[in-house]
Amino acid sequence: CSFAHFGFDKRLIEAIRKSEYEQPTPIQAQAIPAILAGRDVLGIAKTGSGKTAAYLWPAIVHIMDQPDLKPGDGPIAVIVVPTRELAIQVYQEAKRFCKMFNINVICAYGGGSKWEQQNELQKEGAEIVVCTPGRIIDLIKIKATNFTRVSFLVFDEADRMFDLGFEPQVMSISKNIRPDRQCLMFSATFQPKVERLAKESLCNPVRIVH
Ligand code: AMP
Repeated sequence: CSFAHFGFDKRLIEAIRKSEYEQPTPIQAQAIPAILAGRDVLGIAKTGSGKTAAYLWPAIVHIMDQPDLKPGDGPIAVIVVPTRELAIQVYQEAKRFCKMFNINVICAYGGGSKWEQQNELQKEGAEIVVCTPGRIIDLIKIKATNFTRVSFLVFDEADRMFDLGFEPQVMSISKNIRPDRQCLMFSATFQPKVERLAKESLCNPVRIVH
């Protein structure tokens, strides 16, 4: 499998080439075609497997496919991760690939200023929001931006979110995003809580285990 198989935009292929990635990782080879086909995915994959790019690249395709995309319309993709450190890491990877598409990314985590994050969302607008569970709920509650357009939702490191006690927040996010969204879930381990969230949030998911 090569990157050309995914049918990505030339600019994205070029950015991947610049990253010096030689070929898709196994999780990318399996998850990307399913995500591009619009399927929900449950991926059991560890850090280091290339799972971040496996959902980021299709998120970019999903955003570029939106008709009449105008800055300030509200986010299209929300990526929920358990910790601030991971949020920053995913944010940086997202920025790297989004630059050439003029897609704005913001990072919202607990500990950072809620008002500053709200300001960023309202003033600059963002198509992708990378966030921790508690903070995104705060931002939804204070109507920091219009979340009604979110049609691409990712829960990354779902098992760790549960270990950190974020189960109610994660369930609430899933219920607050439009039901016809595409939803992806990644987890390093398989456990009953992950299965329960998958049942609640995913629609007939493709299961990928590594
Ligand atoms: P992740 O599992 O998303 O935490 O990714 C782990 C590391 O693999 C990151 O540093 C990525 O930059 C890198 N990576 C992602 N995709 C590939 C690929 N296809 N080939 C080589 N490295 C990759």
